[in-house]
Amino acid sequence: MPEFEEYAQMIKPLWDSRFLTNMGAYHKRLEKELQDYLKVPYVSLMVNGHMSLEMVIQQFDFPQGSEVITTPFSFVSTTHAIVRNGLTPVFCDIKETDCTIDETKIETLITEKTVAIVPVHVYGNICNVEAIQQIAEKHHLKVIYDAAHAFGEKYKGIGVANFGDASVFSFHATKVFHTIEGGAVCFSDKKIYDRLYNLKNFGIRSEELVAEVGANAKMNEFCAAMGLCNLRHIDASIADRKRVTEDYITNIQKLGLDKYFSIQSYNQEVSCNYGYFPIFFLTDDLRDIVFAKLREQDIYTRKYFSPIIPMQQCYSQFAEQSEWMVADKVQNRVLALPLYEGLKTYTVSNIVNLIKEICEEIM
Ligand SMILES: *Cc1c(COP(=O)(O)O)cnc(C)c1O
Repeated sequence: MPEFEEYAQMIKPLWDSRFLTNMGAYHKRLEKELQDYLKVPYVSLMVNGHMSLEMVIQQFDFPQGSEVITTPFSFVSTTHAIVRNGLTPVFCDIKETDCTIDETKIETLITEKTVAIVPVHVYGNICNVEAIQQIAEKHHLKVIYDAAHAFGEKYKGIGVANFGDASVFSFHATKVFHTIEGGAVCFSDKKIYDRLYNLKNFGIRSEELVAEVGANAKMNEFCAAMGLCNLRHIDASIADRKRVTEDYITNIQKLGLDKYFSIQSYNQEVSCNYGYFPIFFLTDDLRDIVFAKLREQDIYTRKYFSPIIPMQQCYSQFAEQSEWMVADKVQNRVLALPLYEGLKTYTVSNIVNLIKEICEEIM
């Protein structure tokens, strides 16, 4: 969080203007500042990441019942946004190397009903955007990236939100950059900006004209003010997350823990935001025991993402399918370790030592 005084000063003018929401001055200013920071042509701010996904999918006007190829290995929001738009998710397996959608398996899932691909930059790992673009062009599909984990990242020097037809960020309090709750859609087509501007405000075009069935998905001024404060500190915050990540890697290598679990490799072409530090155990049992024992010591790790989306109760109609062997394997072995700005070097060392002790005890 920013210093209290910094935020207090930022919201003071709201008491004078009494302009608290409805695309106010901070909403406009944050859109502009994010355009610059993310190096994208257009940013449309939303109330949260989920509604950003819902709204951007809605504005493509896909026929009801169309199919959308997506990943089983994400937060449920990704699939919910597809289903709540009256579309059918088709799950494509992931790659074990970086947990993003396996682009080599997309084409076999395309039917005459397919209209779009919704991949996720999982843990900030950038999908194979070139291959996905090629597939999309060949089959005339839209590509909407769930970039909730990839705030501020660049791939080959290009802002990550420039890939595909649109990208969505989440600014939830738990994300690398936050506005308390919030989100944004990024794209290069001005028409999408105008459409979303109306859609996120009930479809209201003018005082007496409601042109289409929109939602209420606009960001309020208090959230935009939090974003403006946090954006000033984001580079320092990411730099500190990098330090924590390096602390983890140093400790893990020093103790030779690769006989119990592996860590991610970092793509040299990606400027990473260090949002997550997942480790991948060599057996399912080991993951579950380490998770439980750490929790006993008040160390909160997360099985992120487990259960995978098709195994959630509300998607039980998909549970019988077996096309996502890799996602199924990873969900049983992954554990995301604590990672936040200010996490002390000695705390990281303690966590890694504890994991070592637990592993040695049971192996
Ligand atoms: C956080 C997240 C969302 C949803 O964002 P909210 O701002 O919480 O609505 C969607 N997809 C992924 C991958 C996320 O991590």
